[in-house]
Amino acid sequence: MAELIRGLRPQQVEANLEHVRKEIAAAAPAGGHVEILAAVKYLPCEELEVLAQAGVTLLGENRAQDLVAKAQAYPGRFTWDFIGHLQSRKVAAVLPHVRYIQTVASESALAALARGAEPSTQVLVQVNVAGELGKSGVAPEELTGFIERCPVRVVGLMTMPPLTSHPEESRRHFAALRTLAERHSLRELSMGTSQDYVVAVQEGATMVRLGTSLLVAS
Ligand SMILES: *Cc1c(COP(=O)(O)O)cnc(C)c1O
Repeated sequence: MAELIRGLRPQQVEANLEHVRKEIAAAAPAGGHVEILAAVKYLPCEELEVLAQAGVTLLGENRAQDLVAKAQAYPGRFTWDFIGHLQSRKVAAVLPHVRYIQTVASESALAALARGAEPSTQVLVQVNVAGELGKSGVAPEELTGFIERCPVRVVGLMTMPPLTSHPEESRRHFAALRTLAERHSLRELSMGTSQDYVVAVQEGATMVRLGTSLLVAS
């Protein structure tokens, strides 16, 4: 994991946020609304205050225990999504704190949801659109059955395409995810990180997950 970022400056975050919002507005299809989720795995708990001051309200965390600790440290301040590798034994701990688990991708996670979920629980299914070996995510051809077996409401799809320094290389993966979401009438498309969020928005993302582009000086 990358080093933690400390000493975040509110003006820096505000400037980054303004830049990102402009890029998103220019890239979004007419009438499209795109949520900005701040990925906070790089931030220690005490730094989250700066995000709140800058007007960031939607946060994503990768580790269950960090999500619980951070959510408890700022009661009611943020909306939380879980965006990390989902261990089935952590599902119950995470559920009370989150809007969505975005990374449901295994049969054991489905079983844990069947045991621990509330009627209101909503999730996204993570899809391995590029078919990368060893990467989390349901294979596209297995998605229909997976959604049918999911014991809670699936509201969208999420993907993490291959790392690249060329955003255009992500475009076909984002387009593939959008096609899958349309086929299953799912409204949420969580795709695009700092490397490729502009392309993701052009391809119909409803949510981008940003870490470095919000937190680090550009
Ligand atoms: C860290 C992370 C992000 C943000 O990545 P950046 O490149 O810092 O924007 C998005 N999604 C997931 C699942 C992450 O773990």
